[in-house]
Amino acid sequence: ARTTSREQIALTEQHSAHNYHPLPVVVASAEGVTVTDVEGREYLDFLAGYSALNFGHRHPELIRAAQRQLGRVTLTSRAFHHDQLGPFCAELAELVGKDTVLPMNTGAEAVETGIKVARKWGYDVKGVPADQATIVVAHGNFHGRTTTIVGFSDDAEARDGFGPFGPGFRSAPYGDAAALAAAVDDTTVAVLIEPIQGEAGVVVPPPDYLPEVRRICTERGTLLILDEIQSGLGRTGRTFAAEHSGVVPDMYLLGKALGGGVVPVSAVVADHDVLGVIGPGQHGSTFGGNPLAAAVGRAVVALLASGRPQRKAAAMGEILHSELRGLIGQGVTAVRGAGLWAGIDIDPAIGTGREISEALLAEGILVKDTHGSTIRLAPPLVVTEAEIRRAVAALATVLKER
Ligand code: PLP
Repeated sequence: ARTTSREQIALTEQHSAHNYHPLPVVVASAEGVTVTDVEGREYLDFLAGYSALNFGHRHPELIRAAQRQLGRVTLTSRAFHHDQLGPFCAELAELVGKDTVLPMNTGAEAVETGIKVARKWGYDVKGVPADQATIVVAHGNFHGRTTTIVGFSDDAEARDGFGPFGPGFRSAPYGDAAALAAAVDDTTVAVLIEPIQGEAGVVVPPPDYLPEVRRICTERGTLLILDEIQSGLGRTGRTFAAEHSGVVPDMYLLGKALGGGVVPVSAVVADHDVLGVIGPGQHGSTFGGNPLAAAVGRAVVALLASGRPQRKAAAMGEILHSELRGLIGQGVTAVRGAGLWAGIDIDPAIGTGREISEALLAEGILVKDTHGSTIRLAPPLVVTEAEIRRAVAALATVLKER
């Protein structure tokens, strides 16, 4: 039996594709905010599966929902009805404030679905000439890894070597509503943006950006699609990040925490006048909306419907951000974010984001770098004040010792 971290990492290196560069920790078990490695060392998980673990590892209500469903039925395919899908869609629609749900599995699939729906809506409802639809996106976006999606990314690493890419996307600088307005024309069926850009380094746009984008979309008869896959479902202290600026999109893209870190669950949520353009045979997924996913998704929706995770994120987020602000000038050049979500720019003279992440690992704190000199903190929303103070103190120590 291979039991040491070293052996596990060697085996993974030998037989798994090298499309990731993980930190050298091998997790064997986890509960709440804490993960334990194969040698029994404990760490605080301040990445939380890129926000898929908003409710913590193995939240008892999510595990209970999964176990109950495992004892009943796990997959039917959409060839038949099952008794979890209707309730899941109804409960999610009510939480979101829209009336229709199209369930998928991964975030990238939700984005692809949003693109297809917007184009179909553009041809059927807006009257855009066939195959002329355009979608306006933002510089620095991250929406997933399919060929269509990386085709409108401006991250060379994500994009180079994977073309040729399909046409139909225009990109405008993030946070600049005037530039976005200039990119919209009569062929534009949708504007697709993240309300806060996650992978770009937790980039928060100016306060008037989202309201302005909403106004432009309404004025130009264009759908506003918000990718809340990483920002949504409690992370920022509200159900959706866009709520902070009072903006309601025409279409929400949800994923990650929708499956509670138990199963992959994603969804497009919109009103019927938008999602109704898709008919039988035009879109689908073998696993999308399966009974196990729907049962876990219902338990996630129930947690969020209580409002507790959002309130917890807002209260703990205040503490996190005030603690982090204290590090500015002490090896940190900038801190951005909202709620329990922070992008921290490390002074490049001190080290790269990767080096700081490795040093934090040695201190028992798991985080992940992004874009060279930034590290991101996104602990589960069940994190305690003491755990936040411990993680920030570890960061302060790491920065001081370098
Ligand atoms: N959209 C956003 C904003 C994301 O952050 C991500 C993943 O990081 C995705 C889409 C893609 O989700 P998935 O990795 O589940 O395909």
